[in-house]
Amino acid sequence: PTGQVPDYLNRLNPEQRDAIETTDGPLLVLAGAGTGKTRVLTTRFAHILLSGRARPNQILAVTFTNKAAREMRERVSALLGESAEGLWLGTFHALCARMLRRHAEYVELTSSFTILDTDDQLRLLKQLLEPYHIDPKRWPPQAIMGVIQRWKDRGLMPDAITAAEDTDFANGRCTEIYADYQQRLKQINACDFGDLMLHMTEILRKHPDVLAQYHRFFRYILVDEYQDTNTIQYLWLRLLAHRGTQRANICCVGDDDQSIYSWRGAEVENILRFERDFPGAKVVRLERNYRSTRQILGAASGLIAHNEERLGKTLHPGREDAEGEKVRVISVQDSDDEARMIGTEIERLRADGHPMSEIAILVRAGFQTRAFEERLITLGLPYRVVGGLRFYERAEIRDAIAYMRVVSQPSDDLAFERIINVPRRGVGTTGLQKMHMHARERQIPLTAAVLEMLGAGDIKGRAKEQLAALMQSIATTREMLGREGHVVAIDHLLEESGYIDMWKADKSPDAPGRLENLKELVRSLADYENLGGFLEHVALVMDAEDRSGADSMSIMTLHGAKGLEFDTVFLPGWEEGVFPSQRTLDEGGLKGLEEERRLAYVGITRARKLAIISHAANRLIYGSWQSAIPSRFVEELPAEHVETRGDTANSRRTFLGRPAVFGSTPFPLVASKRVHDVTPTPARSGMNVGVRVFHQKFGYGTITSVEGNRLEVAFEKAGPKRVIDTFVEQV
Ligand code: ATP
Ligand code: MG
Repeated sequence: PTGQVPDYLNRLNPEQRDAIETTDGPLLVLAGAGTGKTRVLTTRFAHILLSGRARPNQILAVTFTNKAAREMRERVSALLGESAEGLWLGTFHALCARMLRRHAEYVELTSSFTILDTDDQLRLLKQLLEPYHIDPKRWPPQAIMGVIQRWKDRGLMPDAITAAEDTDFANGRCTEIYADYQQRLKQINACDFGDLMLHMTEILRKHPDVLAQYHRFFRYILVDEYQDTNTIQYLWLRLLAHRGTQRANICCVGDDDQSIYSWRGAEVENILRFERDFPGAKVVRLERNYRSTRQILGAASGLIAHNEERLGKTLHPGREDAEGEKVRVISVQDSDDEARMIGTEIERLRADGHPMSEIAILVRAGFQTRAFEERLITLGLPYRVVGGLRFYERAEIRDAIAYMRVVSQPSDDLAFERIINVPRRGVGTTGLQKMHMHARERQIPLTAAVLEMLGAGDIKGRAKEQLAALMQSIATTREMLGREGHVVAIDHLLEESGYIDMWKADKSPDAPGRLENLKELVRSLADYENLGGFLEHVALVMDAEDRSGADSMSIMTLHGAKGLEFDTVFLPGWEEGVFPSQRTLDEGGLKGLEEERRLAYVGITRARKLAIISHAANRLIYGSWQSAIPSRFVEELPAEHVETRGDTANSRRTFLGRPAVFGSTPFPLVASKRVHDVTPTPARSGMNVGVRVFHQKFGYGTITSVEGNRLEVAFEKAGPKRVIDTFVEQV
C-alpha cells in the first residue's frame, strides 16, 4: 500500500534507508565493520523486488563466500515471504561459471567443461614443465602457478604480458609456460578458477551481442565486500554495469579497513576510484555499529588507528545499552595450554547455556586448527572447520569424484589419470607414458587413447583385461545415468570398478571410516538434480558444508570469517611470527603489516559480546621449541578496553622467570637445540640502546629499543626485528 512505510524499512536507521531507497544510479556504501552494509544490500534486494522495479532474476548480487550467498538467499526469501528461485546470487566464481556454461564455445570449450581444483592445476602444470628443464628448487611449480594466477587476477592473457613482467622468473619462460598451460586446459576442456572470470570477461569484451543480452537482463547490480575485488572482477563488473547511455544501477558496499586479500590480487583502489568510474555516484556512510559492544568496538578502533593508510571512518556503538565486557588478553605457556584454556572456556559457556553455533575460534593460518580440533574432540564438543573442505579433501572422496568426472566428461585426463591405477590395474609408469604419447599424437583424450590401444592390442598383460573392464564399467555407468538416475549409476560405478572392494580389502584402521565417507558421498548425490550439478557444487564450494545440522561451534581462518558474526570469538596465537605472520615480518614492509593489522581488526569485530585473545610463551615451530613474543597488536590495543590475564601481567616472568617445569608435564621433552632458549635465564645486563649484538639468524645489528627483555634491533642485513635478549650476544 502506498504512503505507508513498509516494515522492513522501519527497522533501519535513516542512512541505511537512504542507501536502500536510492535504487537508481551508482551508489557506494563505505562503512566500518558491523554497520549493516550486508543488511543494506539484502534489504535493497528485497526492496527492488517488492517495489516492482525488477523481477528476481534481473538482479545480479555478488557475495564473497558461498556461505554469505546462502545467508543472503535466506534473508531475501524471508523478506519476500516466499522462496526465491533462480536468483543470480553468488560468488564471482559461481556466477561466472554459470554464465560461461552458456557461452563456452566462444573460448573453445564445451558447456560441460570441468573446473579444476588446485591439485589438478598443479599436476597439469608439472606435466607440462618437463620439457622446460626448470630447476624446481629454484622455481617451484607452486610459485609459477602463483605468477600465472596473479596475471589472471589482473585480467592478463598470455599475449598481453609484456617482456618486462616476465624477466628472469622461471628462466624468463613464464609467459610461454602460461600460454602452454592455457592451451592444455583447452585440450582437456577444463578451466581453473581464474579462467572462469578471465574467459567470461573476455567474452563480454569481444562479443557485444552477448554483453547487450546481459545488459537487457540485469537491471540492478549489488556487490558485497567491494574492497576485496581484484582487477578482473572489477573489469567484469564494470562491463556489466555500464549500460550504454543508461545510468549504471550498481551498488557496492565495502570497508577499506577490512581489505585483507591483496595477496590474492585484491585492489583496495577499486573502492577509492568508484566515484571516478561511475560519475555522479552517491556515497553513503554508515557510522553506527549494531554488532558489537562498546568495549569491543573501542578495542578494535584503537587497534586499526595504528594504520596510516586508511580513509578513516567514525564508528559509534549503535546499541546504547551494550557496554559489555572488556576484551580479554590471556597469556598461556604453549599451544597445548592454549587449547586447554579455550576448551575450558567453551565448556563453561556451554554449561551457561550459550549456543555452540555462536562461538568461533579464528586462526591466522590453517596449521593452527589441529590443536583445537584435538582438544574439542577430547572434550566431546561439536565443532566444524569452516572453509577447510575437510570432507572433500579426503583421498577416498577425491578418488570417487575423479571417477564421476571421467563419466561426466571423457576428456577429463587429470581425473582419469588419478583413477586409472586405483585400485591397481597393472598400469606402470611406462605404460602410462605410452598412453600419453598415443593421446598426444592422435590429439585425443586419454580415455580415447586407451580404447584405441586396447582395440589395437597395444596393451598387454594384466592391464589389458583390467583396463577393458574399467572402460566397460564407465560406459555402462554413462548409459545408466539417463535410465536409472545418477545415484544408482554412481553407486554401481564405485562397486564395478573395484574401488569399494579396494577399501574393503584394506586392513588399515582408517579403511572402515573411508567406506563410511564413500557411503555418505553417494547419499549426498541425491541432493542434486544430476551428476553435473553435483560436480559443479563440489568444484565451487569453498565452505565446508555442515551436514550434521547440529549445534556446533566453528573453527576457521580470519580470512574465512569475513562478514560473519558470533557472540564469542577466540583469537589464539597472537604472537610475533604467527600473527603478524613470519612472512610479513621477513618482508619487512609497512603494507604487509598494515594488512595483518586489518586482519586483526576483522577478527575482533566478528564478536558481538566477547573477544578472547591469547598468546603462548612457547611455540613448537618446525619441530623445535621457540620462545614467542606477544604480537605487537596486543600492545596496540587501548588499555582501557582490555583486561589482561595470565602471565602477561608480568612480562619478565613470562619470558625469563618461567619455571622449567610447569603443571605436571616437564617442560618440552623435545630434543632440540633451542630448548635452552626458553629455560630460566637471569635478566641480562648490558642490553642497552646502541649496543652492538650478534644473532644466530639475523647476524649483526644495533639495539634501538629495550622493553623488559624484548629488544628492537636494527640488523645490518635483516633489517629491524624484535628479538628476546637471550637470543643475542653482545659483541
Ligand atoms: P561487516 O563489515 O563485518 O561485513 P556489515 O557492515 O556488513 O559488517 P551487517 O552484518 O550487515 O554489517 O550487520 C551487523 C549486525 O547488525 C547484523 O546482526 C545486523 O542484523 C545488525 N543490524 C544492522 N543494521 C541494524 C539496525 N538498523 N538495527 C538493528 N540491527 C542492525
Ligand atoms: Mg558484511
